[in-house]
Amino acid sequence: MKILILPGDGIGPEVTREAAQTLQLCAQRFGIEISTEEAPFGGIAIDERGTSLPDDVLAKARACDAILLGAVGGPKWDNPNAKVRPEQGLLGLRKELGLFANLRPVKIVPQLIDAAPIKADILRGVDLLVVRELTGGIYFGKPSGEREGANGREAVDTCVYTEEEITRVLRASFELARQRRKKLTSVDKANVLSTSRLWREVAVRMAKDYPDVAFENVLVDAMAMHLIRRPRDFDVVATENLFGDILTDEASMLAGSMGMLPSASLGEAKNSLGHPRGLYEPIHGSAPDIAGQDKANPLASILSVGLLLRYSAGAEAPADAIDRAVGQVLDAGWRTPDIAQPNTRTVGCRAMGEHVRDALSRG
Ligand code: NAD
Repeated sequence: MKILILPGDGIGPEVTREAAQTLQLCAQRFGIEISTEEAPFGGIAIDERGTSLPDDVLAKARACDAILLGAVGGPKWDNPNAKVRPEQGLLGLRKELGLFANLRPVKIVPQLIDAAPIKADILRGVDLLVVRELTGGIYFGKPSGEREGANGREAVDTCVYTEEEITRVLRASFELARQRRKKLTSVDKANVLSTSRLWREVAVRMAKDYPDVAFENVLVDAMAMHLIRRPRDFDVVATENLFGDILTDEASMLAGSMGMLPSASLGEAKNSLGHPRGLYEPIHGSAPDIAGQDKANPLASILSVGLLLRYSAGAEAPADAIDRAVGQVLDAGWRTPDIAQPNTRTVGCRAMGEHVRDALSRG
């Protein structure tokens, strides 16, 4: 496998280093041949090359089998009036590679149930998968920007979805539900938004093709409440770009920390192994408040490697081994500061990565 590593900014390089070393070890143990290459992306690419997604990096992304990404952004590049911004690289990469389905599993780790800010009896048994549409909607619609209106300055953003964009992400969601507990919740705002009404129409029509999947529509405002009140009731949750962005940060609190949640972004393109060529990254950002202090939790990035092996290599056993190693490290009481609890042992990012690799080596 050819894997492109884009560490990015802030804690991105710190967590990605641990994840990449874990990937190397796992590949060795399971006899998967991999070659890795690192490239500048995000803020650091703006500094070095004047753009957040240099053309040669995009070419490498198109040519590889999977991409492991850290995080981008930070105060240095925060000026909203700047012509080049780190997030443009991220949105551009997803769009250029046609990565329209962002999978964000939220599974409660029993060892961390008391670290979450939500009551343990609500959290026990939560195991859901949010599928967020990633290349359409209000983050991409034109016009977008500020302009002079009849009453002075105004700003506009446009939410557009084609029937085809909705269909492909819902098809992926129904298929994933089939492989899980066979329940799909489609989230929209059909009482107000036209894009949501089209979304719902397509979802209801497609549900007839999947009679084995229990299907429901839920409005996004109600979903924000249900996720906290009864998260156990959900299996696959499919939604559009903006709603998915917000709901998954909310869902990260079920797992105790942003530092625990991995993600996979998949499209229709296949890699040289015949599996989807995916982009794998933690859901968190570059966390400038803790960058460079060896405080970041690398587990979301390490768990993203598990998803990479599962989806882009079709390798279930190594993916399970990574999940198990993370469980063993938590069982042993090792915690980064974001998930520390009384009677646990706090370690930094590097040491946490080493503990996972030790557990992996022990099998
Ligand atoms: P953030 O996710 O970076 O941080 C939010 C909070 O969670 C912070 O207190 C941070 O310390 C903590 N946190 C996040 N990841 C952690 C980890 N692995 N271990 C321990 N604690 C962790 O979100 P933010 O502060 O809103 O954004 C910071 C920068 O990241 C911004 O420039 C933003 O644009 C960017 N961002 C990038 C991505 C991405 O690259 N995919 C996603 C979100 C935000």
